[in-house]
Amino acid sequence: MSDLAGHVVLVTGGSRGIGRAIALELGAAGATVAVHYRSRAADAAEVVRRIVEQGSEARSFSANVANRAEAAAMVRAAGEWKGRLDGVVTSAGIYHGPALEEVGAEDWEEMFRTDVEGTFRTVQAARPFLDRSDRAAVVTVSSVLGSHAAVGGAPYQMAKAAIEQMTRALALELAPRIRVNSVAPGFIRTDINRTGHEDPAFHALVARSTPLKRWGDPEEVAPSVRFLLSREADWVTGTILGIDGGIALR
Ligand code: NAD
Repeated sequence: MSDLAGHVVLVTGGSRGIGRAIALELGAAGATVAVHYRSRAADAAEVVRRIVEQGSEARSFSANVANRAEAAAMVRAAGEWKGRLDGVVTSAGIYHGPALEEVGAEDWEEMFRTDVEGTFRTVQAARPFLDRSDRAAVVTVSSVLGSHAAVGGAPYQMAKAAIEQMTRALALELAPRIRVNSVAPGFIRTDINRTGHEDPAFHALVARSTPLKRWGDPEEVAPSVRFLLSREADWVTGTILGIDGGIALR
């Protein structure tokens, strides 16, 4: 039996993309999953249904994580569901890729409120519930762009760099009871980059920049998150794990 059996894990952005794959992976490993979503209740219900069908428990919780009060209330509700959290995975996030002169005040605010503060407030609100676990772990979601520069989308890259430093800072602050790690995916085919899915030039960019020559799937990120939450990673904290087809080698 998986060592995540009975573990209570909150996954933000769990109704779609990478978060959805993580929620399903954890459910299949026996975890009890709090599936967070923003507005797509039907998608979240479908993830819950699939986890329950596999024999684990799941429930959906909604919030706009860019709204501090909503994010905190959602995390509290998820924590109070089973009285504790053994894990938190923060996959809720957005992407904007504008050039410098096109970055408006709203783009800036939304990026930092969602990715940086949303991640931070989620972990902050989860802390009392993580404290009730005897083996708690947090996994944040960065990007290869958190440590490697690309042309366009500087605020996204800055936000991911902030998440990486948040991961290290909180790993230190919350040790020894709570481990904090991050995953940094490369090109993963999800809604966040759907404009590139049918674009041959974008495919060529993915192939050119990724040594393994293809997009990744959300299901190729999820096992690493399961590992970081598991007992096998009991001695791992403050690390940023690239899952990127080798793109960071360039
Ligand atoms: P996605 O668009 O499929 O999923 C993003 C999720 O975040 C959705 O469930 C969405 O509802 C949620 N979300 C966005 N803003 C929110 C808000 N204000 N409140 C609540 N929920 C909100 O994209 P994805 O690729 O699965 O992205 C998940 C994470 O992975 C993001 O942090 C993204 O930056 C990161 N990432 C993705 C890639 C990639 O290539 N897909 C690469 C590196 C990092």
